[in-house]
Formats: sequence, structure tokens, C-alpha cells
Amino acid sequence: EATALEEYKGIEARTGDGRRIEVSANIGSAGEADGAISWGAEGVGLFRTEFLFMERPELPTEEEQYAAYRGVAEAFGNRPVIVRTLDVGGDKDLPGVSQPEEENPFLGWRGIRMCLDVPELFKPQLRAILRAARHGNLKVMFPMVVEVGEVRAAKALLDECRGELEGEGTPFGEVEVGVMVETPAAAICAASLAPEVSFFSVGTNDLVQYTLAADRGNERLTRLQSADHPAVLALIERTCEAARAAGIWVGVCGEAAGEPAMIPKLIAMGVTELSMSAPSIPRAKKIISET
Ligand code: PEP
Ligand code: MG
Repeated sequence: EATALEEYKGIEARTGDGRRIEVSANIGSAGEADGAISWGAEGVGLFRTEFLFMERPELPTEEEQYAAYRGVAEAFGNRPVIVRTLDVGGDKDLPGVSQPEEENPFLGWRGIRMCLDVPELFKPQLRAILRAARHGNLKVMFPMVVEVGEVRAAKALLDECRGELEGEGTPFGEVEVGVMVETPAAAICAASLAPEVSFFSVGTNDLVQYTLAADRGNERLTRLQSADHPAVLALIERTCEAARAAGIWVGVCGEAAGEPAMIPKLIAMGVTELSMSAPSIPRAKKIISET
């Protein structure tokens, strides 16, 4: 089977009825880009940027972030690279940002909530992404969104950053904006979010956790850690319907994107991009081709 899978690495996967599905990689650091390409990644559907902020005494500078995002953008050329803005909360320390001890960090001050409250944290990241966008096909997406106001506020900050860069004469590029649908609220409100963005990316890891009220890291709850649950499927379907009505595309970047049993269901609902850990890519392309 290993050799058989090898043949799928380089293909552009299409279903039997001709639907083209983009298969991309989730990466957690700039150094993973080349490895992802060698597994057959057609882009990056989720670039987790937390690595730049963790386990270090100081926040990363804008320059440092620019270099990291630029490196990945260049590695992928004109293929899309979706940079997810910082998604940390009370379970992880951030230098220079005083975070309250929280009893429920997964329900706490995290992701877009924290970023909107601390623009001195958020804006250097947005500026770095805009600047790096000149060197490839970068998109930006916001995590943990629960309402349209958050998306509008984040886009307003992005505009503010564009204005600043322009004023300074610092070159930058265009980026499409998307949101992660990883809370039940985002899926339920997808019709109001869709007109604000160019794409949705369903984060099934958190969507499952929040929908089924089952901690994603609790080993006793493996039965409840699958997206293959009617409630989760209904939320993904609703998300796809809202996206279709607004004319935007939907990807999936949670673990479900690489699960053989889930792939045909996601495609049936209208998902056109699947992003997963790189070693799962050849098998996913094979399954798509057999769907
Ligand atoms: C998700 O929640 O499904 C996701 C892809 O993001 P993360 O695993 O980084 O929370
Ligand atoms: Mg998540």
C-alpha cells in the first residue's frame, strides 16, 4: 500500500464526478513548509502561529514574524497559505501580557478575544502578515470567532494596519480574510459571518469539543471526540449552506479533514479544501479520487 499511496502525492485530487478538492497541510512552524510540500501539500490550510509566541522570554517582533510568514509564503509560491492569527489563552503564558488564572481556559480569554483586547499584541502580527503577503499567496484567518462584531473589529484593525503601512511607505500585499468555524455559535451564525469574509475553515477539533461538551484532551472521552456525530455534521452542513448562499468557499482544517470516513461526507456537504497533518495527504487524495 505504501507504494500505491506514493503515487497520489503529486496529484490534484478530483472526485469521480469531477469535483476538485484542494488538499493542504496544517503546519505549526515555518520549518515544516518543505516537508509538507514533499508530502504533496497544495498549500497550507492552517498555519498555526503560536510557535512564535511560546516558550520564550519576549514577544516576537514584527520583523521576526514577517520573516517566518514570508518564508512559508515563498516556499509555496502562488499556492495559498492561510495564516491563523494567534490562538492562545489562559492555559499558556505570554510574555508581557498579563493573563488571569482561569478555571476553564478553553472557555476563556483566548484567540480573537484576547487579540482584540490587546492591539499591541495583535497589530504587529497583522502588519507582518500584510507585509509578507507581497511574497506569495497569503490569507489570514481568525480563530474562536462567535459573532460578526469580532470579525468586523478584526477587519477594522487590519485596515488600520494597511493605513499605517501606506503612511510609512512600507510595502505590503493584499490578503483575503477568513474565519474559523470552530464554535457552535459561528456555525449557527454562519449566514451573518459569510458576507464579511472570503472563506470559512471549519476547525473540527474545537467544534467537536464545544458542541459535544467533551474536552478534546480527555482520554476517557474518545467516543465523543469525533466529528462524525449528527450534531457536528448538522453544524458543518449549516456552515456550507451559508457559504454557498454567500458565494464563498469552505475548507476543513481540524483532524476530521484527514479521516477516511469523514472525507466523503465533508465533500458531499460542499467542502472544497481539506487541510491536515502532512503525512495524511497521500491517503486523503486517494480517498477523494475514489469518492
Ligand atoms: C481546530 O480547532 O479544529 C483547529 C484546527 O485548531 P486547533 O487544533 O489549533 O485548535
Ligand atoms: Mg481550534
